[in-house]
Amino acid sequence: MRKLRRVVICGAGISGLSCAAFLARNGWQVTVVDHARGPRPQGYMIDFFGPGWLPADSLGIIPRLHELGYRVQRLDYVDRKGESRASLPLAKFANVARGELISLLRPDLELAIREVLPPDLDLRYGCTVSAVRQSSESVIVTLDDGGSLEADLLIGADGIHSAVRELVFGPEDEFLHYLGFQVGAYSFHDSDLAARIGDRVAVTDTRSEAMFF
Ligand SMILES: Cc1cc2nc3c(=O)[nH]c(=O)nc-3n(C[C@H](O)[C@H](O)[C@H](O)COP(=O)(O)OP(=O)(O)OC[C@H]3O[C@@H](n4cnc5c(N)ncnc54)[C@H](O)[C@@H]3O)c2cc1C
Repeated sequence: MRKLRRVVICGAGISGLSCAAFLARNGWQVTVVDHARGPRPQGYMIDFFGPGWLPADSLGIIPRLHELGYRVQRLDYVDRKGESRASLPLAKFANVARGELISLLRPDLELAIREVLPPDLDLRYGCTVSAVRQSSESVIVTLDDGGSLEADLLIGADGIHSAVRELVFGPEDEFLHYLGFQVGAYSFHDSDLAARIGDRVAVTDTRSEAMFF
C-alpha cells in the first residue's frame, strides 16, 4: 500500500490554495497555514487569462469565476477631467486569449479556489512557519503557535516576501531585485463614480487631487 504523503503549504493565496486543491485530489494529506487572520476581502482587479486558465478549468471553477467577474467592455485612458483620450475594447484582448479572459477581484479568485477545497482540509489562518528542519526522510516544520508538523514536502506559497524562502535559502535581499515600482491598491464604495465609470476600466497617469469623471 502506498504511504500517505503529507504536505505543508505556507500561504493561502492563489498558488497555495491551488496547490492544496490539486494535491488533496491526488491523495495527499494537506495542511495550509497563512499568517493573515482570515481570508482578506480587499484587493485589486486582475485580468485572469493565460497559463492560469488550464488549472482553473481542471479545478472546475471557470463558471464560478464568470459569476464573480465583471463584464468590462473597454479600457479608457482618461485625462484629469475624466475625458477619454484613447480607448481599447476589451473584446480585442479576449480575442487574443481565445475568449479565455475574466476580469475579477483577486479575493474573488481566491474565494473560488477555496470553495473547491475538501471541507476537511486543514486550513489554518493566523499561523505561520517559524523554523524548518529537513532530513533525508522528511521535513519538520515548526509553527509560530508552538506546534510542529512532519511532512514529505513543504511548499512556500507565501508571496513575494516569502518567509519560507528566507528560512530555507537565506535573506530576502539575495533574491529580491527591486525594479523601482510601487503599487497601492484599495477599494471604496461610491455609487456616483461607479455609475460614471460604468462597464469600463479607467486608467490615468495624471497626478491631481481634482480628477473629474
Ligand atoms: C496591482 C496588481 C495587479 C495585478 N494584476 C494581475 C493581472 O491582471 N493578472 C494576473 O494574472 N496577475 C496579476 N497580478 C499578480 C497576481 O496578483 C499575483 O501573481 C498572485 O496574487 C500571486 O499569487 P501567490 O499565491 O503567489 O501570492 P499572493 O497572492 O501574494 O498570496 C500569498 C499568501 O501568503 C500569505 N503570506 C504572506 N506571508 C506569509 C507568511 N510569512 N506566513 C504565512 N503566510 C504568508 C499571504 O497572506 C497570502 O495569503 C497583479 C498584482 C498586483 C499587485
